[in-house]
Amino acid sequence: MCVGLGGCSPKPAERQLFAMDTFMNLTVYGESAEEQLDAIQERIYGLEAQLSVTREGSDIHKLNRSGGTSQTVASETSELLERTLALCRETDGALDVTAYSAVQAWGFTTGEYRVPNQDELDQLKTSIDYTKVEQQGESVYLPPDMKLDFGAVAKGYTGDVLAQMLREAGISSACLSLGGNVQTVGSKPDGTPWRVGIQAPEGGCLAIVEVRDRAVVTSGNYQRYFEQDGQVYGHIIDPATAVPADSGLASVSIIGKDGLQCDGLSTALFVMGTEKATDYWRAHGDFEAIFVEEDGDIFITAGLQDSFSLAEGYQEREVTVLE
Ligand code: AMP
Ligand code: MG
Repeated sequence: MCVGLGGCSPKPAERQLFAMDTFMNLTVYGESAEEQLDAIQERIYGLEAQLSVTREGSDIHKLNRSGGTSQTVASETSELLERTLALCRETDGALDVTAYSAVQAWGFTTGEYRVPNQDELDQLKTSIDYTKVEQQGESVYLPPDMKLDFGAVAKGYTGDVLAQMLREAGISSACLSLGGNVQTVGSKPDGTPWRVGIQAPEGGCLAIVEVRDRAVVTSGNYQRYFEQDGQVYGHIIDPATAVPADSGLASVSIIGKDGLQCDGLSTALFVMGTEKATDYWRAHGDFEAIFVEEDGDIFITAGLQDSFSLAEGYQEREVTVLE
C-alpha cells in the first residue's frame, strides 16, 4: 500500500491485477509508463507460471512430484533456490523452503483448515529440512517425502525483478504493491520519498514509513489464519515444530534494498519473535525492521527513527526504538 499519491502532476499510469494469490497495485510515472506496465504485467504472469507450487508444469510442481529423482529447472528458478537456501542457512532454518508439507497439512493451501495430531506433526517435522535439498546448478534433488514452495520469497523476488526492469527502461518513479510486498523505484515524482503504509493487524493503516528505492515487506498472521477452540493458527509455520509460529508477533515488516532478502526475512523473523529477531538484526544490520506484537507494542530498529511515523488513530501507541 502506497499512500499519499494524489495531488501531484504528472498523472501516473496505474494497474490492478490478481496474481500470485494476491491483489497487486502497480503505479508507474514517466512517458513510457503504460508500455512499462504491459511489460511488467507480462513478467509477473511469467514468474507466477514458473514459480507457482500449484501450476501444472511449473518447476516447483515438477520438483514436488519428482519422487526423489533429480530434476532440471530453469536457470532463474535455480538462482532463486540458491539464494533462498542461503537465507534458510543464515536464519538457522527459521526460513525453510521445505515447510510446504506442513502448510498443506494445516489446510492453508485449500482453506480446509485442520489441526494435525501429534503423530502427524512428528511425521511432518521429518519432512521439513532444507539441508536435504541438493543443488548443482540447474539440477535439483528433493527427497521423495519433501515439498518445496517459494511462497515466502517469490513476491519479494518479483519486486526486485520488476524494479530492475523499470530502472533499465529509464523509470525513476514507481511504486509496486504486490500484496504485503511493496517495492519502490526512486522517489515520488516531486522528489519526496514514497510513503508506504504498514497495515494494522485489525485492518487500516497503523504507521507510515518513508522510503526511496527500497522494498517494504510485511508478514503477518492476520494475512491468512483460522481459529479453532479459541486458538488462532496463522499461515507461517515454525519449521522446528511444524506448527504455526506463535512468537507473540502480529506482524513483521522489513525495509531494505533487496526485496528477496526482505521477503525471506519478514517470514523468518516472524518465526523468531522480537527478541531473537532483534539479535539477528544486530548481527546483520543490512536491513531495518518494524515489529508489531499481539499485545499492541511496537518496536522499530534505529535506522527507521526519522522515516517512521504512526498513522492517525494510533498516535498514542508507544514505540520502542531498538539499538
Ligand atoms: P510470507 O507471507 O512471505 O511470510 O510467506 C508465507 C508463506 O510462505 C506461507 O503462506 C507458506 O506458503 C510459506 N511458509 C510458511 N512458513 C514458512 C517458513 N517457515 N519458511 C518458508 N516458507 C514458509
Ligand atoms: Mg516472506
